Amino acid sequence: MQERIYMDNNATTPCDPRVLEEMLPYFTQKFGNAASRSHTFGWEAEDAVDKARERIAAALGVLPKEIVFTSGATESDNLAIKGIFEAYASKGDHIITVKTEHKAVLDTCKALQKRGATVTYLNVDREGLIDLNELREAITDKTVLVAVMWANNETGVLQPMREIAAICEEKGVLLFSDATQAVGKIEVKPKEVGVHLLAFSGHKIYGPKGVGGLYVSSAQPRVKLSAQIHGGGHERGMRSGTLNVPGIVGLGAALQIATKEMEAEAGRVATLRDQLESGLLTIEEAFVNGSRTHRLPNVSNISFRCVEGEKLMATFNQKLAVSSGSACTSASLDPSHVLTAMGLSDEMAHSSIRFSLGRFNTAEDVNRAIELVKTGVEKLRKISPVWEMWKEGLLNDF
Ligand SMILES: *Cc1c(COP(=O)(O)O)cnc(C)c1O
Repeated sequence: MQERIYMDNNATTPCDPRVLEEMLPYFTQKFGNAASRSHTFGWEAEDAVDKARERIAAALGVLPKEIVFTSGATESDNLAIKGIFEAYASKGDHIITVKTEHKAVLDTCKALQKRGATVTYLNVDREGLIDLNELREAITDKTVLVAVMWANNETGVLQPMREIAAICEEKGVLLFSDATQAVGKIEVKPKEVGVHLLAFSGHKIYGPKGVGGLYVSSAQPRVKLSAQIHGGGHERGMRSGTLNVPGIVGLGAALQIATKEMEAEAGRVATLRDQLESGLLTIEEAFVNGSRTHRLPNVSNISFRCVEGEKLMATFNQKLAVSSGSACTSASLDPSHVLTAMGLSDEMAHSSIRFSLGRFNTAEDVNRAIELVKTGVEKLRKISPVWEMWKEGLLNDF
């Protein structure tokens, strides 16, 4: 059997061997608790955490003390949104976010609505971009937070963070960004851009799973955050719990490597992505979803008309790992909320595939993926009555 191809790097990435190597001693010899102040076991662990914090701060252009370690981006999203909602309750109860956010943001906002929050969900256009005027008009004197993701996980679409930050600055509103997909792939400098809180995760950047972080601005403005996990007062009281030292070491190493190699790697991956796209767009009625100019270098989301993404993936026979635009919630398959928010029909959302390339993909992978997709689409359309009808012009555009 030929090796399986992995093109689902936005779901997770393998740990880079260089990252793993740095982590290993912290499971065994250097196992101390970073909060133990009275012996060298603790000091070693604390030093490792300090070093990781410094590496991360350097990569993001922020201060080490502005980084809070968490269990991943889901927790960071929860901490940022719930933490601001609680800490600024005396100012207001209004949160603004976007329909295409990750579920970790959307479901957190929904949970807060049950606790009295008013939430505005901004629309996006066909390209996946928000309307800056809609944002501006949505802000009221009760708005405590604007939450806009840096890069979308399904389409790779990049929101205009600088323009968004300028509006938040002008209105005096805090801005949070889930940058889980952007960090390590493109330059992300929250302080410089004017983003006050920023979430990221280890396992999306060739680091370990179960570790992530939240940048929280400490000055101009000093952001107050209400803790969501209480205990020993770790992480300046914002997130208690014994630190995941090997994980934190891995996160630091992963972000340092990604930052150092970013320019070259972004170029290499974008070239592969463009090859993949030009190969796949020779297929009849295939469309790229989302902006092709404001986009991460590694993602291509493509709909193949009259072909169900889930069925197309089944034709790959486990030779190619990608994601479809059908989200499995409970027993049913729902069309992706990201694609439907962009104006795609349920059918076109179900017919989409997300290809997310990564550090370990090659040109050979791309060529094999193109072949697998072409063969699969052809095979399914041959037996599809809907495709037949579409070709005969018996169906409206959908
Ligand atoms: C993967 C992802 C998350 C969740 O991250 P975890 O570390 O797995 O909790 C949140 N937001 C975005 C945009 C993601 O891609």
